[in-house]
Amino acid sequence: MKIAELFYSLQGEGSLIGVPSVFIRTSGCNLRCSWCDTPYTSWQPEGEEQTVERILDAAKTYPARHAVVTGGEPMIAPEIVGLTEALRAAGLHITIETAGTVFQPVACDLMSISPKLANSTPEGQWTAQHDRLRLNPAVLAQLMERYDYQLKFVIAQPADLVEVGALTEQLRVDARHVILMPEGTDPAVLRERGLWLAEICKQEGYRFSPRLHVDLYGNKRGV
Ligand code: SF4
Repeated sequence: MKIAELFYSLQGEGSLIGVPSVFIRTSGCNLRCSWCDTPYTSWQPEGEEQTVERILDAAKTYPARHAVVTGGEPMIAPEIVGLTEALRAAGLHITIETAGTVFQPVACDLMSISPKLANSTPEGQWTAQHDRLRLNPAVLAQLMERYDYQLKFVIAQPADLVEVGALTEQLRVDARHVILMPEGTDPAVLRERGLWLAEICKQEGYRFSPRLHVDLYGNKRGV
């Protein structure tokens, strides 16, 4: 499978924020978010073909008890099931970060699902494909039924909450599973959006997530 990067850092988003984790980032995605913060796994996928054994050996060089399999879209990576089973056999807690458009029977302790809202749709040749694929309620329901999960939405403007409300109602999601995170890779933008988003979270009972890795290290790779 094609791996863009493998590194040791703190989980920067969601319910396990701050937990030291080894990150395994697959390359390749079926979507093309306009604001994608890892374009080297989607718009111009980069990386090196690696075997599950090699990935596992690299992961084991770090003192992590948690592994985060992310992307790109890890659920479209060949051997994703074998990789997650190998991580489980190694005793690691596994988070999978996915847009929730594809199901695979992976080994996973926390399915971190980030359904893509209309604010992600790019202009140009990818518009139609992205909009056709970005939400798959049947797959979302399957993932939510099978795994412990969080639904992590990337919010760019208050109007995005209309879409969040419609989707969570359709899927009958309890608010305690919903996490809202401001869109952005610039600390000043994240702070500005975070202030109004925090108020929305207080009103609706959703959890707020900062982007810890951006706050600590800035918008760069391998952190
Ligand atoms: S789903 Fe994730 S990796 Fe794929 S284009 Fe969107 S933000 Fe980028």
